[in-house]
Amino acid sequence: MSNRKSREIRLKSRPAGMPALANFELAEVDLPAPGPGQVLVRNAYMTVDPYMRGRMMDRRSYVPPFQIGEALTGGAVGQVVEAGAGAPFKVGDHVMSMAGWREAFVSTGMEMMQKIEPIPGVGIQSYLGTFGMPGLTAYAGLLRIGEFKPEDSVFVSAASGAVGTVVCQIAKAKGSKRVVGSAGSDEKCKFLRDIGCDEAINYKTCGDLNAAVAKAFPDGIGVYFDNVGGTHLEAAIGNMRQFGRLAECGMIEQYNATEPPPGPRNMIMTVGLSLTIKGFIVSNHYDMLGDFMRDMGAWTKAGQMKWRETIYDGVERAPEAFIGLFKGENFGKMLVRVGPDKAV
Ligand code: NDP
Repeated sequence: MSNRKSREIRLKSRPAGMPALANFELAEVDLPAPGPGQVLVRNAYMTVDPYMRGRMMDRRSYVPPFQIGEALTGGAVGQVVEAGAGAPFKVGDHVMSMAGWREAFVSTGMEMMQKIEPIPGVGIQSYLGTFGMPGLTAYAGLLRIGEFKPEDSVFVSAASGAVGTVVCQIAKAKGSKRVVGSAGSDEKCKFLRDIGCDEAINYKTCGDLNAAVAKAFPDGIGVYFDNVGGTHLEAAIGNMRQFGRLAECGMIEQYNATEPPPGPRNMIMTVGLSLTIKGFIVSNHYDMLGDFMRDMGAWTKAGQMKWRETIYDGVERAPEAFIGLFKGENFGKMLVRVGPDKAV
C-alpha cells in the first residue's frame, strides 16, 4: 500500500495587520484510499498569492473566507499516484488543482482538477505562475481591461512579480515603445531592464514617486497596470495622458491595513483627462485562456517571455513564503515545493 499521509497548513487564527507565523499551524492527516471515480494526488508545488490575504478575513468577497481550523486552499500542481475505478485521470497524470497548502489529497470533485498539457521547456511549477492564473491576469488585464494599443506607453507597479513581469513583456511584445516598471530593489529593477523595460523605478529609494514617474513618462502614461494602489495609484493618475486607462488588478499596499487608507488625492484629474479606471477579477476572463496559451507559447519560443521563480522548500514553509509576499521577499512568482515533480 502506498504512503497516504499528508501534511497540511491550517488557519489557526485570523491575522490582524501583517500575517504572522502564529496565525498558521501544521497538521498531519491520514488519507483514505481513493474510491470509485477518485484519485490520490501528491502535490509537487503549491502557490501562495496576495489574494489569499483577503480570504483570511471573515468578510463577504468574491471568494468565501477560509475557516479557522481548516486547511487552506489554493493552486497546486501534482501527480496522480493512485486512481479508483472509473477515475477521470490515470496514475502518472500531472494535474493542476485548487487543493494546495497540503502534500497530498484524495479528490472529492471540488478541487477543480485539470490535466496539465505540457509546453516544451516549461516546468510544471510555471503553470502556477507565468503560464497560469497570474499570467492570464496580466494578459486579460492589459489587453482587455487596459485596452492596450501599440501606441500606448505602459506603467506597471510590482513589475518584477508574477503578474507584473508578464505585463511588461506582453506590452513590449505587442509593440509598446515605452514600458516602465516599479519594484522594491535595485536587483529587481535591473531584471526589469533585462526583460525589456525601457526604465525601472526603485520606489523605495526614488524619493518622490510622483516626480520619478513624471520623469519616466515625459509624454504621459497610456495604460497604468496597478498591482499596488496607494501612492503608486496617485502617482499614475498624476501622470496619465488624456483618455488613458487604469487597469485595477490589485492594491497590495493596503492588504494588511487595519484602517481603510485614504484614497488618491488627485481623483479630480480623472475628469479633465477623461480617464477610465476599471477593476477586474481574472476568473471572469477565462474565455481568453486559449488565446493566452497560444500567444504565451509563441512569445516563449521567440525568446520574448522570461520569468523568475522563488521557491521555498517544504509545506511547513508555506506560511513564511506567503508572508514574504508582503515584504517583497519573492523575485518573480512565489512558490512552495511540497514534493517531487514525479511521485510515481
Ligand atoms: P507578486 O509576485 O507581485 O508579489 C507581490 C509583490 O508586491 C512583492 O514581491 C513586492 O515586490 C510587492 N509589494 C508588496 N508590498 C508592497 C507595498 N506595500 N508597496 C509596493 N509593492 C509591494 O504578486 P502577484 O503577481 O501574484 O500579484 C500582484 C498583484 O496582482 C497583487 O495586488 C494581487 O492581489 C493582484 N492579483 C489580482 C488578480 C485579479 O484577478 N485581479 C489575480 C492575481 C493577482 P517589491 O519588492 O517590488 O515591493
